[in-house]
Amino acid sequence: MYLRNGRAAIIDLSTGDLRERELTEDALSGEMSSLELSSSLSAENGGALVLGSGLLTGSLVPAACAGMIFSPDEDGEGMVSPIMGMAGVELKLSGFDFIVIKGESPEAGYLWVRDGIAEFVPLPEMLEMDSWARTDRIRVDQGDRRIQVIASGPFGDGKHISSRLVTNHWLGEDEVGLASAFGKRRLCAVAFRGMGELEVADPEAHFASSVNLQKDHIMKLGASEGLASYFGGADADHFKEIRHRVIGCFGCPHPCRSYAKVNEDPGKMSMGVSEPGYLHYDIPSLKAAFDAGIDSVDATRIMMACSKAGVDPISVLSALGKDAIGMDLAELISKSSLFGAMDRSRLQGSFTGAVSDSKSYSRCISLGLCPRYWGKVGFDISSASLSIESAIGKLL
Ligand code: SF4
Repeated sequence: MYLRNGRAAIIDLSTGDLRERELTEDALSGEMSSLELSSSLSAENGGALVLGSGLLTGSLVPAACAGMIFSPDEDGEGMVSPIMGMAGVELKLSGFDFIVIKGESPEAGYLWVRDGIAEFVPLPEMLEMDSWARTDRIRVDQGDRRIQVIASGPFGDGKHISSRLVTNHWLGEDEVGLASAFGKRRLCAVAFRGMGELEVADPEAHFASSVNLQKDHIMKLGASEGLASYFGGADADHFKEIRHRVIGCFGCPHPCRSYAKVNEDPGKMSMGVSEPGYLHYDIPSLKAAFDAGIDSVDATRIMMACSKAGVDPISVLSALGKDAIGMDLAELISKSSLFGAMDRSRLQGSFTGAVSDSKSYSRCISLGLCPRYWGKVGFDISSASLSIESAIGKLL
């Protein structure tokens, strides 16, 4: 089976039971198969939370980095968030195409997945930690700094309407509020490490066709300016002054991620303090801060605090404006009754709105492609047909 593991892990948090379910190639290989399978696996397991990867995630198709999180909302509709950076690929390389999480744990803790093994680790003291401390604790306890962690924070624990999931310290992907689905299950984080391998149908043809496609894209897109390539606000001098470096997700030739340092000299390459800054790619939140008249240094500090709390910065900025400057976690929690739900899907720079319509967004996520990148270069899947066919052994 190309680019797939052929199995899902199903863990019941209420009992700790783990079972595996085999998935057929037919079920896994359609262009909407990942979202359809997420939805059906969730329904089969009582409205479970499902983490998964796309058909092409981990291939050499440009920006094939996306994984996904799926959960039904109160109306039974699906809420979907992408998982970016290296996390989507590491999830696929953990040995499972999908991780299905059902039930509620009797005590708080995190799910730990690697090498085809999934286990729930009870750790009630995690409820006292913010999302950054949860991520750091898991990496220390499991002895690997490259472990990918999707964490909720205190707002997710409280199932707050403005709570958001945090991926490896950073906010931006969860535009629908999936942190509450973690809180409901006493699930503080899901951690995974991918050491497996994937097969493609014709490795040489896949490499050559993907490199050619990438060259075409680079010609079309021009030089990368990091976040400023996707959001004009990041071209401001006050943002350039704190920009440290540009970081791409797996396989992205035109990255949007700009790391900014505010707690030490941005010109210094090494990291001298434990919390030097923030990885900016949450365009709607940064725009909301700039629109409120907040400069890049203060906006970065607000986003650091919101990320630790696991709360949507737009909700915070809408309620507090400039009063959000300098607030720490305890102060954000004390103001939580002021923060409402935000519909981010139509906001400028959102992942959801990066492509022309909701169907294209669903296709991108199901295929494992970054909607932001493909929205910029032009989402025409036929342009990638050689690269895709050489990976999966057939046309979509
Ligand atoms: S455009 Fe940004 S979010 Fe998308 S793959 Fe590239 S770096 Fe990642």
